[in-house]
Amino acid sequence: MLETQTLAEHKPQLGEFGFAGDDHVVPYEVAPLDVRGRTVQLGPMLDAILSRHNYPEPVARQQALLGNGVLALTIDQGAHTQRYQGIVQLDGTSLEDAARTYFRQSEQIPTDIKMSVAKLVTPGPGGAHEQWRAGGILAQFLPQAPERMRIPDISGGDGDDRELTDHPADNSWQELLALLGTIEPTELIDPTVGAERLLYRLFHEHGVRVFRSVPVDDQCSCSREKIHGILQGFSAEEIKDSTEEGGIHVACEFCSTQYDFDPAEFAAE
Ligand SMILES: [Zn+2]
Repeated sequence: MLETQTLAEHKPQLGEFGFAGDDHVVPYEVAPLDVRGRTVQLGPMLDAILSRHNYPEPVARQQALLGNGVLALTIDQGAHTQRYQGIVQLDGTSLEDAARTYFRQSEQIPTDIKMSVAKLVTPGPGGAHEQWRAGGILAQFLPQAPERMRIPDISGGDGDDRELTDHPADNSWQELLALLGTIEPTELIDPTVGAERLLYRLFHEHGVRVFRSVPVDDQCSCSREKIHGILQGFSAEEIKDSTEEGGIHVACEFCSTQYDFDPAEFAAE
């Protein structure tokens, strides 16, 4: 069961609710607006992932923000469910736009999303301490009556009406969009704001319910066995070509884990 806490009654003090902190996804609900969503701040984990790759900074920033031209979203809800993979072209649009496109195309639930990434520089006695941080908030409109989710037709007028064609005209959803529009990029990554303070700031007038947070795992699906299996499919020639300084060295491009094998493990056929 989900544990819930209501933030509407009074201004929360730090630590009062057992704040989720970095690297935890915080689910929330704003019932009067028929909105549900999640918010997260990534701290030490993002730093660890990006520094593992040892990218030069402009590349790291681009990787964090935009990836390499396509955004691949894989949704895997467990062993007995169908895995979904969606690819969104990043044609110069922001990651936020790409994510919105993904939700519009795949889930078809009105969804808004805000994201931010930056390097935090903290001056200290031993020199400046640098740390990557990222944050995001996602909101989805889930009214009881499905007709409230309808997106109005394009009116014949000038470009001013375009905004309406992307979103339902429903007052609750329009209010949500206006509230998310007030988020400053720094609020999403500021560790002194955090997920709960941001939710309180945005929704305290309506009443926001916060559910127990879920830790984010930094985990890749690669394994020694998987890579061993791939190498077993190599011909003797390919094994020879892959051998450098007496060993076969494979690095996972996603998580940077290095796997070393002895070529003798793969007997020439
Ligand atoms: Zn990996």
